[in-house]
Amino acid sequence: NTEMQWKQFNRTRVYMADLESALHYSLRLELAAHPTISGGALTALKRYISILAKHFPGRRVVRNLLQAADTWLQSQEDPEISYKSLLAVLDNKAGTPEAVLPKGLQWVGCQGSKPHFRRYPCSMWTLFHVITVEALNSSISDAQDILQAFRGYVYYYFGCRECAAHFEHMAKESMNLVKKLSDAILWLWSRHNRVNNRLAGALSEDPHFPKVQWPPPELCPKCHSLELGDHAWNYREVLSFLQEYYSANRILLDYLE
Ligand code: FAD
Repeated sequence: NTEMQWKQFNRTRVYMADLESALHYSLRLELAAHPTISGGALTALKRYISILAKHFPGRRVVRNLLQAADTWLQSQEDPEISYKSLLAVLDNKAGTPEAVLPKGLQWVGCQGSKPHFRRYPCSMWTLFHVITVEALNSSISDAQDILQAFRGYVYYYFGCRECAAHFEHMAKESMNLVKKLSDAILWLWSRHNRVNNRLAGALSEDPHFPKVQWPPPELCPKCHSLELGDHAWNYREVLSFLQEYYSANRILLDYLE
């Protein structure tokens, strides 16, 4: 079983294999639980695919497929679509040249020491951070376009319902207040750290990947400082660290078929 074979990887890098696996899992596996899609769920799906089409920093064929899926979805005027019809587009049944959404799961940076650790949820965080950083670079979406698209996806489709409830709770508190994309990057980072904090030591934690307040000092010394003896984040440094860490040109292409 090749899926279980441990792959060598650099723990401080982002892998395209995880991002493509996130796309496959979220668009083919999670959505399959919804035979028909309408109302708020349809709006959420349109927003999610729209930001992927605009900002997924992937291989050209994958971007082409996401764009085809976006165009198709935006042109649907019925109040309800079937998952099957979307799947036909994702599988490129129409034969658009040079457009593929690879099938299958290939976890690299998101490998877990056991099958129930890490993987899809890890890849979704990674995808969210990458897309937000990419959006800042291209400036064709605003902070709310991006954050609300994630929010809607998680709310309607994320299979871990407890996660969705927690995320929605955090979104309700403050997501609407975020105006700038740079603040969206930091909002997502700080909420991710809140989740890390809550989950540290929980049964869901992979013992080989302990939950820490991220990035730890080894990864970004300048991100940390002391104020009157207490730990404080240096937000400006955190932002520039995230922009570099999650930037498209740093994503590794290892293990892609
Ligand atoms: P992850 O937390 O998945 O992080 C992936 C990678 O991102 C890390 O390896 C690290 O390189 C980097 N990273 C870590 N922290 C940050 C940060 N603050 N900013 C930027 N990058 C960072 N699980 C639950 O049990 N309960 C929940 O309520 C819950 N809510 C979730 C909500 C969402 C929206 C998502 C996507 C996942 C949620 N999960 C929840 C899953 C959980 O957060 C982890 O994804 C899962 O436990 C796997 O953890 P991991 O070790 O792979 O690291």
